[in-house]
Order: sequence, then C-alpha cells, then structure tokens
Amino acid sequence: MAKKILILPGDGIGPEIVAEARKVLDLVNEQFNLGLEMQEALVGGAAIDATGIPLPAETLEAAQAADAILLGAVGGPQWDTNPDFQIRPEKGLLGIRANLGLFGNLRPAILYPQLAHASTLKPEVVSGLDILIVRELTGGIYFGQPRGYRTKEGGVREGFNTYVYDENEIRRIGRVAFEAARARNKKLCSVDKANVLEVTVLWREVMNELSAEYPDVELSHMYVDNAAMQLVRAPKQFDVIVTGNMFGDILSDAAAMLTGSIGMLPSASLDANNKGMYEPCHGSAPDIAGQGIANPLATILSAAMMLRYSLGEGAAADKIEAAVSQVLDQGLRTGDIMSEGMQRVGTAEMGDAVVAALRA
Ligand code: NAD
Repeated sequence: MAKKILILPGDGIGPEIVAEARKVLDLVNEQFNLGLEMQEALVGGAAIDATGIPLPAETLEAAQAADAILLGAVGGPQWDTNPDFQIRPEKGLLGIRANLGLFGNLRPAILYPQLAHASTLKPEVVSGLDILIVRELTGGIYFGQPRGYRTKEGGVREGFNTYVYDENEIRRIGRVAFEAARARNKKLCSVDKANVLEVTVLWREVMNELSAEYPDVELSHMYVDNAAMQLVRAPKQFDVIVTGNMFGDILSDAAAMLTGSIGMLPSASLDANNKGMYEPCHGSAPDIAGQGIANPLATILSAAMMLRYSLGEGAAADKIEAAVSQVLDQGLRTGDIMSEGMQRVGTAEMGDAVVAALRA
C-alpha cells in the first residue's frame, strides 16, 4: 500500500535542505520499492506570506492524512515583529505537534568519527559518541495552566508558570524511552529534579513502575543539574536519556553541541502509534539562506529516521546513514563542518554526493 509522506520545506534554508532530502528519498523509494507518495505543503513564514496564517487548514489536513512528515525549518526575522503570537512561524509547528499528539521527541547525538575534531570537547571524551535523548514534548511547564504575567498590588510585575504532569503522560513517554533503550544498548537514565519538585517525584515513581515491564533495560535516575554536568564531563556513560519537556529542551541542545555541528543532527517527534514529524535539530538559519551553503545532512538523516521509526523501512534507513558516512569519508564538508585538508562543498553538491554513494 502507498505510504503518504508530507514534505514541509518551511523557511530560510528549509527549502534548500529539503530538496536534497527529497533527492535521497526519491532514489531509495525506487531502489527499495517503498511505494512512497510525496506531497508538499506550506507551513511557518511561507504559509503566513501566502495565506496569512502559519498553519493553513489544508496543511493540517494533509498532515493528519500522512503516514509521516518531513520538515525543513521555520522562522525568520521578517515574521518576528508581529505582535500577534498566533501569526508567528513557530505556531505552525506547535499546531502540528499539538493536533497530531506528537509527544515523544527523539534526538540522537551521534559524533561521526570523521568529525571528532569538530567538537569543542577533547576527542577522547566524545569520539564514537552515540546517545539518544527522549524528551516529552507536549506537556510539562511549557503547557501547564495556570500561566501568565501580571502586575500585583504595588505595581510589582510577576510571571508564573505551572509544572504539571499526570502519570499517564509520564508513562507514555517512559514507554517510548524503554522501547528505544531496548532496541539499543539497554541502558536508560531518567533525568528529574525529584529532590525539589513534586512533579518529578511522580516522574521517578512512574519510571520505576515501568521498569518492572522492561527487566532487560537497566534504569538509573539522575538529577538534572548532575546530568548537565555529566553530559559535558563523560557523555559516553549514557545510552538513552528520558526527561520532561523543559529539561529535555536544554539537555538535548547541550548534547547536540557535543557533536560539534548542529547541521548533522536529525530529530523525530512521534505519537503513540509511531507516526511522526521528522526535522533537523537546527533552525532556518536566515543568515545563510539562499546561498546554497547549508548542510543538508541533518535533513537527510531525518529522512532516514522517518523510514526507520514511522515506516518500518530499517534497511533503507541503514543505507542512507551508510551513504552519509561514506561522503564524510570522501572528505566532503559543508562550511559548518569544514576543517583543514577537506573539500568544501555546497548544499546541492553534498546531496548529490549522498545520492551517488547510494547508487554505488
Ligand atoms: P539556527 O539553528 O537557525 O542557526 C544557528 C547557527 O547555525 C547559524 O549561524 C546558522 O547559520 C547555523 N546553521 C544552522 N543550520 C545549519 C546548517 N544546516 N548548515 C550550516 N549552518 C547551519 O538557529 P537561530 O539562528 O537561533 O534561529 C534562526 C531561526 O530559526 C529563528 O527564526 C528561529 O525561531 C528558527 N528556529 C526554527 C526551528 C525549527 O524550525 N524547528 C528550530 C530552531 C530555531
């Protein structure tokens, strides 16, 4: 049966990097007879310009009908001054995540040995790094009610948010993480702040309860401040990390930076049935948009994750990842991962090199 893929190029470098992922998907579609049907739609600033809103109804309908979604990136300074927050590009993404119930964010941080020098940490600390951060994406303090900004008596301004999770929200993200750990090295570290926050006392309890269902996975717990420290001290001690929305937001960016280039990192946001939206970890990079120099590999690797997690096409995913490794072996580098003695290439050349490696 045909599988519907919705492609959302978005803004800035989005259309440039997605075009390269599309070349790769078109080829593996043919090589593995995947039956992928690809369709494109507008989201973010591009949708605001064309329709006045960041998530047009037809984009949302297409997202609901799709088996998986591949996104470039959204955002740019030209849309940041709108005082109406509903008409900001990011609302397009948040709308898709909320409507599709994409609560599980998977962010791998893999350091290809060819790029070990790109990290700011010593090569022996990071070389061969391969960790996965599982972040809860639709709950926690970013969504908790009540929230607000007000002026109290005496003219004193006050901002407030609510950090809340119920046990069902914790259990479903816990399952995603235990399953992921089971498919990897069977080590799961749950990160919380159970010494201070009651909501994470519950988080820890639920993770411990779940652990009985996954006796093959070794569960440990760590406070978030220690986790931040351990990530930069000895990151290879981790296999899979699971944490809430805010801690995950911060730790996954730190983990991304261990690898030296955000231009290499894919991500996935999944619902309870493994339907998902896949996107590079980086943003729309307005500073380099339109120049043909952006690194398309994070988006190409996001397409590989899509094949693996939502479409059950692990062999095609493996082949794409091997092709990416091969172009790095060939010494090809976009500007963000460039180093002495390597060959600098642009966005399209990098995409073409991956396609050539897939054909070889
Ligand atoms: P960014 O990730 O877009 O850029 C940070 C730096 O990394 C820039 O110097 C950029 O040139 C570079 N960079 C990013 N991706 C690259 C790539 N593939 N190849 C080479 N270099 C790359 O972050 P930012 O500058 O903070 O944000 C720019 C815009 O992107 C903002 O409007 C922001 O809201 C948006 N944003 C969108 C998403 C998303 O769509 N999921 C995520 C983060 C930021």
